Amino acid sequence: MAERKRIVVVGGGAAGIGLCRSLARRFRDTHDVTLIDRNRTHVWKPLLHEVAAGVLDPNLEEVGYGGHAARWGYRFFRGALEKIDRERQVVTTSPLLDEDGDVLLDRHEIAYDWLILAFGGVSNDFGIPGVRDHALFLEDRGQADRFRQKLLNACLRANARRAEGEDATVPIVIVGGGATGVELSAELVHAARALNSYGLESFPSDAMRITLLEAGPRLLPALGEDVVAKVEDELTSIGVDVRTGAKVTEVRADAVSVEGMEDLPATLVLWATGIRGDPAVADMSDLELSKADRILVNPDLRTVTDDHILAIGDCAHCEPPGQDGPIPPRAQAAHQMADHAVEVIAAVEAGRTPEPFTYRDHGALVSLSRFATVGSLMGNLAGGRVAIEGRLARAAYLSLYRLHIISMHGWLRGLARLAAKQLGRAVRPQIKLH
Ligand SMILES: Cc1cc2nc3c(=O)[nH]c(=O)nc-3n(C[C@H](O)[C@H](O)[C@H](O)COP(=O)(O)OP(=O)(O)OC[C@H]3O[C@@H](n4cnc5c(N)ncnc54)[C@H](O)[C@@H]3O)c2cc1C
Repeated sequence: MAERKRIVVVGGGAAGIGLCRSLARRFRDTHDVTLIDRNRTHVWKPLLHEVAAGVLDPNLEEVGYGGHAARWGYRFFRGALEKIDRERQVVTTSPLLDEDGDVLLDRHEIAYDWLILAFGGVSNDFGIPGVRDHALFLEDRGQADRFRQKLLNACLRANARRAEGEDATVPIVIVGGGATGVELSAELVHAARALNSYGLESFPSDAMRITLLEAGPRLLPALGEDVVAKVEDELTSIGVDVRTGAKVTEVRADAVSVEGMEDLPATLVLWATGIRGDPAVADMSDLELSKADRILVNPDLRTVTDDHILAIGDCAHCEPPGQDGPIPPRAQAAHQMADHAVEVIAAVEAGRTPEPFTYRDHGALVSLSRFATVGSLMGNLAGGRVAIEGRLARAAYLSLYRLHIISMHGWLRGLARLAAKQLGRAVRPQIKLH
């Protein structure tokens, strides 16, 4: 009997978790699939702003890797990638520590025939002083939980001071006018409006002061000007202070400095200015990287350095022919790359040359919480972007999430989960206060 080949996937995020299910199904009889992730559970990243604002309970969204692996026939290994030894075709994970810092599991080696890197990116702080020390990020569930806890504590404190007659507020500065910053601003307004009826009786919604800063001339550069104008109007009408052309020069514990403006007081600063590759990758391997530390891949998603290593999702820098610039770090791109990676392995093993990856941009949509959903879809008939809003935009916005659920759980279980979520919405509180 032929020896089984080993496919190792590092990172079970938007790209990796559905990929493991697909690989395990496609290569059931010939390959062993192993997923390595530093966390025990998966929460889809585009939901993190809702988790941060407290309008979504992450416990109801998370998927345990162990259970998912057992269900779909792959192995899960918890650990953080530390080293890639290309010569021996072995990856090493760093020692796994418990909550007290004691070693749970020592450094570990896992051998591969195929290695697929899908470990995402890190927030780009552009080296601006104080960002790493004082700002919060939305890179994973832990960080979103931390933001929510700090937000609730700040609101509770302000509520108590207001009950004593003080005019206490909670100023929040969100840096970055992309989808994350815009969507979080709207979710925070929604949360602030709900807090009052959840026991913070002295805390009116306008006591949460939200300022959204964007260094460029306008929000959401990926969207058309008409759509962006609508977003700005809507944010302003719900009370968000939107400032474009605002270049942050420093973040301190209680304020943000902006070029040419007065300092902005800030109890909380959320940094959402985009994603770059993890600089640690340069120490882990000799893979060739872009200037932004993303792994350089050929058009078929195999790395330019090694034919047996693929990189997909936010950690990859891919510029296939005909593509105007590198593929953007987005969930829809991550999902499509995951599908393509399966075909690449199948093609190479069948002795064929793999097809180049083709990115299908389905458009960009922005959800302003319960207030509005706007964006544009790629319209084949119109031959370009078509602006949409309202219910149609909401349905299109949710379709990406639904596709992710189905890619993780299959049609039957995926639809059952979506139905359960819909039912749950009717009985759950509007915000998570713990
Ligand atoms: C708030 C927010 C909203 C967004 N909204 C949208 C949207 O509406 N539409 C859209 O298209 N995109 C959106 N995005 C972007 C989208 O989430 C990312 O592009 C997508 O998640 C990238 O997928 P990925 O699999 O490459 O990485 P990720 O989803 O980030 O997954 C990376 C995985 O790798 C693991 N990992 C990291 N380092 C290591 C290591 N050293 N060892 C082991 N495991 C590791 C992590 O634990 C994680 O599970 C949003 C992002 C955010 C933060």
